[in-house]
Amino acid sequence: MPTKSLESMVGLAKVEDLPRIKALADAHRQELGFVNRATLAAAINSDEILCCLQGFLHFHHRRDKISTLYHLCVSPEYRRQGVGRSLVTLWEEHSRTCSMETLRLKCPLDSEANGFYWRLGFTRVAIEPGKHRPLVVWEKKLPEATPSHPKFVASLSAGGSDIKRLFELWDIGGDPRNPFQDVLTSPLACPASTMTYLRHEKEKGRIKEIWLDCGAYQVQQGKITYEELLDKLDQLYRDNQWADGYVLPDSVPLSTDSDQLVEYKVRETLYYCTRFFQTMPAYIQERAIAPVHGRTPEQISRCLETYNQTGITTVGFGSWGTSGPNSSVNMLSQESLAMFSTVLDIASEHRMKVHCFGIGSPSSFNRLRSHKLIPHTLDSTTWWKAGGFGAIFFPNTAQIQLTKRRGIETTKIALEQLKKTTNHSCSFCQSIEKLRTSRNYRIMHNLTAWLDTLAGENGKEINVTPTTEYNLRKSGGDS
Ligand SMILES: [Zn+2]
Repeated sequence: MPTKSLESMVGLAKVEDLPRIKALADAHRQELGFVNRATLAAAINSDEILCCLQGFLHFHHRRDKISTLYHLCVSPEYRRQGVGRSLVTLWEEHSRTCSMETLRLKCPLDSEANGFYWRLGFTRVAIEPGKHRPLVVWEKKLPEATPSHPKFVASLSAGGSDIKRLFELWDIGGDPRNPFQDVLTSPLACPASTMTYLRHEKEKGRIKEIWLDCGAYQVQQGKITYEELLDKLDQLYRDNQWADGYVLPDSVPLSTDSDQLVEYKVRETLYYCTRFFQTMPAYIQERAIAPVHGRTPEQISRCLETYNQTGITTVGFGSWGTSGPNSSVNMLSQESLAMFSTVLDIASEHRMKVHCFGIGSPSSFNRLRSHKLIPHTLDSTTWWKAGGFGAIFFPNTAQIQLTKRRGIETTKIALEQLKKTTNHSCSFCQSIEKLRTSRNYRIMHNLTAWLDTLAGENGKEINVTPTTEYNLRKSGGDS
């Protein structure tokens, strides 16, 4: 068994380790073949040797994201004491952080080491002839390392001229960041001018990616039936093969649905999403985003496993229940955090990307962050909606209703204080009068607050430290 002290001594080799590594390699020339000093020195220089006092591991990160093992060597007197295991474990961790996708090695067919690799979770993928004797090829797929910052996707579902005004105002504000690099829009729910304008901005290079939402909430609101949605989307996606993301059509459970109805909708979503996916051209399949639904971990895991088997590589989760005495606080419920944690775990196993649909205000994201639940991408409409309803928020804060004079928090002094404590300032929140009277200023300020939150500059998670751990068994919720 490896001891803590041994593990802590295993690390990337330094120049001063070279003589010891070379001596070890020479002592094992029979197994390793001749390993030349210059090769070892070059490998140390490019951080491709891990070592400890009793052994070393020489690997190479290939461009195709496969990390190959060249040599693993442990002094005979230290064998069967966990040294090899520690070296391989560190190689695996190191490869993960370097975004490698697979570990690969070859081992002589008659070697005892085959059992060692099998116990470490490697899979036998082939047997090759080899120079002197047959070699077993072992591989281990690595789960993806968690991203540290999600990419912000601006949800834009207004008319083209409305969006244009906001883009222009953003430029006047002078913030060099581009919050509109990735956008999500719902063509079935928007006027034609929206798509025209967004495509135009994509051609100009301001927008890099446009994702098309399926507009399932129209079904939720009873405006169209699910069957109609499927038909419309089929046409829409085929007609717009220039887009960068296509949300598959789901049947969205409501918070008021019975458990039985939720189960029905999960099955309906899985059945139609996978069928829809299979009929789409490859170009759309590669960019499909499949919505995950469910009220139990079993339902969530069924969605992910089904999508993975279908060949879908990106999933989206949007069942955000809120909790807290005041729903405007928009804290994510314990239940939705637990479900999302399940989504991230399974997705990481299958190397799928995870998108968060419609997350609320920055405080919601901070709640995810404080639980280390980081998606690859997320979208939000709150910056726009809150601004439209007369509300603003700062990084880490809940919404503040500005247009109705409610109390101390809507005074000029309180605003200045908040700017200080959240370390936020932008050209749109310089005057409280302007924020009270201009909807677009509120929207642009809120957007800036979102970007600040994601950048983590202000992400000290004030007021958002959870007091209880989330509990998978708790049922219900108002997602
Ligand atoms: Zn501001």
